[in-house]
Amino acid sequence: MTFDYAPAPESTSIVNIKSSYDLFINGQFTAGHGTAFKTINPATEEVLAEIAQADQADVNAAVAAARKAYEKTWSKMSGSDRGKYLFRIARIMQERAREFAVLESMDNGKPIKESRDVDIPLAAAHFFYHAGWADKLEFAGYGTNPKALGVAAQIIPWNFPLLMLAWKIAPALATGNTVVLKPAETTPLTALLFAEVCQQADLPPGVVNILTGAGETGRMLVEHPDVNKVAFTGSTAVGQAIQRQIAGTDKRLTLELGGKAANIVFDDAPIDQAIEGIVNGIYFNQGHVCCAGSRLLVQENVAEQVIDSLKRRLQTLRLGDPLDKNTDIGAINSRDQLNRIIDLTKSGEDEGAERWSPDCAIPDKGFWFAPTIFTNVTQAHRIAREEIFGPVLSVLTFRTPDEAVEKANNTPYGLSAGIWTDKGSRILWMANKLRAGVVWANTFNRFDPTSPFGGYKESGFGREGGVQGLGAYLHVEDPS
Ligand code: NAD
Repeated sequence: MTFDYAPAPESTSIVNIKSSYDLFINGQFTAGHGTAFKTINPATEEVLAEIAQADQADVNAAVAAARKAYEKTWSKMSGSDRGKYLFRIARIMQERAREFAVLESMDNGKPIKESRDVDIPLAAAHFFYHAGWADKLEFAGYGTNPKALGVAAQIIPWNFPLLMLAWKIAPALATGNTVVLKPAETTPLTALLFAEVCQQADLPPGVVNILTGAGETGRMLVEHPDVNKVAFTGSTAVGQAIQRQIAGTDKRLTLELGGKAANIVFDDAPIDQAIEGIVNGIYFNQGHVCCAGSRLLVQENVAEQVIDSLKRRLQTLRLGDPLDKNTDIGAINSRDQLNRIIDLTKSGEDEGAERWSPDCAIPDKGFWFAPTIFTNVTQAHRIAREEIFGPVLSVLTFRTPDEAVEKANNTPYGLSAGIWTDKGSRILWMANKLRAGVVWANTFNRFDPTSPFGGYKESGFGREGGVQGLGAYLHVEDPS
């Protein structure tokens, strides 16, 4: 049963949301020339602020500022001096962590306990980690004098707004590049707060530029002839369009795209721990996680036990106000995303899978989706093949390890996988056979700046994080 906890809302008094925001170009907030748009709180549908939209002239100005900063200051600076700026940014992010966390939960809809305990600390950790590399690049295995690429165009999605910014900006700056970053149109606020942090850290003007806007702004940025590197995280469809767009140019590219990860539970697994791992794998961040364990592959002889325990556990999850510290499941980030989840789950029912959700009250306002499990799923079902990007788990079964590998790899994606078993030898055997960039064993959704992250097949290419991630911003072959 679920106990009724007293509400424990985090105060919003720490954030100071302005009524409108400009672009951040050459170290200054600058009016945009496109049509401004609104960002809303997905839990309440209230407008939070009006946001500038960058047009072609703004893209040109931001890329010119990044080029000038690259030529005149950043590429001339020693690695240890660059590192000092990164350390300073990391420390300011820690000092302002609560402000970042509250703002992220308001703009994105994710539970405050996740933005407070995962997103913001990890974002700061990425800056600390890369600050340490800035003066040691000649020892990273990329030759004795590795050189930066120049200006990086970076485009990120809405599911981990500040964390994805950190994954992009920290390695680019550590390796001596300057950046123009475009946050997603539904979650621009923490990137704009980060721009203030750059000012506070006295980062030389033009080293970081933030352009807000929709897909068209991103397209113009990717296309700009003075961009040397494109780093994109988002959907596979847009990633493929970008790849076509820059074909024939010498722009370097990394793509971090979608996923449909298998979380594989063997009959010798510690079932209670596996249940926590399954819940963390697919219901963390409302399932808006590229590497979410959205396909549960469970050994047939323990399937009933696992599904029963899972249903019991889901009945204890709390859905509601993202700013309440007790909340486990927050709001879906946008109406569009909610509609996509509704469409795909409807296809699951139409194709004959069995749907289950716990009883939970859905708030009147905002975008919400109850945690959902589908059983009787076959590999042909759309819900087993397509990324839902919501709190929806598709359960399939297997009998032998070979069958588990076969089913896990039967996907166009290859971002992550999870294995639950008490046998180390089986973990190693499986990890060798799974076509996934990250394989977690007896855990799921663990992130660390020292570990490279990235995909196979339609999940993209290139690695972010770790020593491998540095290669994506240097004039060397990426060893990953
Ligand atoms: P999306 O591709 O629609 O948007 C991502 C970003 O690209 C946004 O900033 C958007 O404005 C921009 N964009 C849209 N069209 C563009 C174009 N033609 N040119 C340049 N930029 C363009 O994806 P989304 O719905 O925001 O994010 C969800 C997707 O992101 C999911 O598929 C998820 O798996 C993926 N994702 C992957 C990772 C990873 O590391 N692999 C991490 C997070 C999210």
